Amino acid sequence: MQPSMFNVRVPLESAGASGDVFLMNTFTDAQVIVSSDVVGLLDRIASDPDLNLTAEEQSALSTLSEHGFVVNDRQAERTRVEAFFREVREDTEQLRVTVLTTLQCNFACDYCFQGDHGDYNKFADKMTLDTAARVADWTEQRLEAVAPESFVLTLFGGEPLLNLPVAYYLAERLWNACVARGVRMMINVITNGLLLTPEVVDRLAPYGLNGVKITLDGDHDTHNRMRPLRGGQGTFDKIIENVRKVADRCRITIGGNFDESSVDSYPALLDYLKEQDFADKLAKVAFKPIIREPKPQAPKGFIPLTAVATNGKPLNGTCMTSAGGGTSICGSCNFVDEKLAFVREETKKRGFPTVDGVHMGPCEIHRSHAHTIAPDGSLYACPGFTGDKTQSTGHIDGRRDDLRTRAATQFERLAAWKECNDCAFIPVCAGGCTVAAHTELGNMHRPNCHKSSFEAGVVSIAREAAARELATIN
Ligand code: SF4
Ligand code: SF4
Repeated sequence: MQPSMFNVRVPLESAGASGDVFLMNTFTDAQVIVSSDVVGLLDRIASDPDLNLTAEEQSALSTLSEHGFVVNDRQAERTRVEAFFREVREDTEQLRVTVLTTLQCNFACDYCFQGDHGDYNKFADKMTLDTAARVADWTEQRLEAVAPESFVLTLFGGEPLLNLPVAYYLAERLWNACVARGVRMMINVITNGLLLTPEVVDRLAPYGLNGVKITLDGDHDTHNRMRPLRGGQGTFDKIIENVRKVADRCRITIGGNFDESSVDSYPALLDYLKEQDFADKLAKVAFKPIIREPKPQAPKGFIPLTAVATNGKPLNGTCMTSAGGGTSICGSCNFVDEKLAFVREETKKRGFPTVDGVHMGPCEIHRSHAHTIAPDGSLYACPGFTGDKTQSTGHIDGRRDDLRTRAATQFERLAAWKECNDCAFIPVCAGGCTVAAHTELGNMHRPNCHKSSFEAGVVSIAREAAARELATIN
């Protein structure tokens, strides 16, 4: 017998539970508070698997084994993890398609990968209704081939609401395709919020509108500096007004992107949100770091992040999946990890539902049945690669060329976590964000590690578990 390699432990002295230890297994997600004797027992079997045990110790180990804290041998555990990643890759329960309806945007955020800061992207790709019809054809073929239980359509951009005809067309047509096949459909919209109206929500609601994610990049003044209109005007007040108008009609998630210049304004933003009449209607509030194009002489204080396409424009990396569903931490230094934990704790303190910093992945790049479609119909493994045509894995019209075939092959064999040795966070991290590894490390097959962020997340979960236990006792 051996302790599982996926056990993490947090001593609870500082949480007022002297001698007790919080144990979590990231593979089974089992969580338990145990005495230091139990932890001692785990340490003893780690150093001598053939230890003579008392009946009481055997019983304790048997309980721990039921929850995955103890395994027969590490090799078998590694084999199970490999099987887990294969299952994630081949999982047919859900088909996910993210459609970038346009790369155009009405904002001029200087960190955005889609933004062309010379012309503010007004000439960028926009999906035509003809392409949208072919996207729907292609998606129907995938629905047939995969036969999923559910289908998630995510409308993304640029600013997806700048192309409402395509958004409405895809929603209605794919809804009918799902109804005909008995598949449950959900629509997510990721928008800057400026064009979000009750009419848009009401138009998408009959087709399974699940949630709308809106970005606020700090308090009023900070957001207006970070996310101005093309003409430089602020957008904060208008977005808040729009959220207020639709908060009764759909699930709203507030996301945001911070850097060193804006992170300290997040407590003020959270206080402001807490005072709003729609505060208790927010389904999730979760923020993450900005990924920036690395500049050799970046001023001190900039997060040295990610991402340049062949045309010199920054790639994504600000993973759109993260605030909505969990996932990316997409950053590259301890500043990011510390600040991520800081913002998450501030969000929790105010009682908003948020991500816990541990249950983050594996993200959609590890799933064969998750696709991203650019406005021209090119396919990508995840939204973070859409700025880089050399990373396209195919096309909705079925065309293949050497570049696409090569890209598809390399995404299929992604397994950066295999280089993570016996890290306890492999099942929830999978080796980190592939986009960040590709752009920061020049190799998408290497881990992009933010272990300290996961560790901070576990400490937070442990404190909450200890507080719950204390409340039960008292
Ligand atoms: S690889 Fe990175 S950007 Fe892409 S889905 Fe995963 S976390 Fe997000
Ligand atoms: S990237 Fe870091 S935290 Fe993630 S699994 Fe690898 S070693 Fe662990």
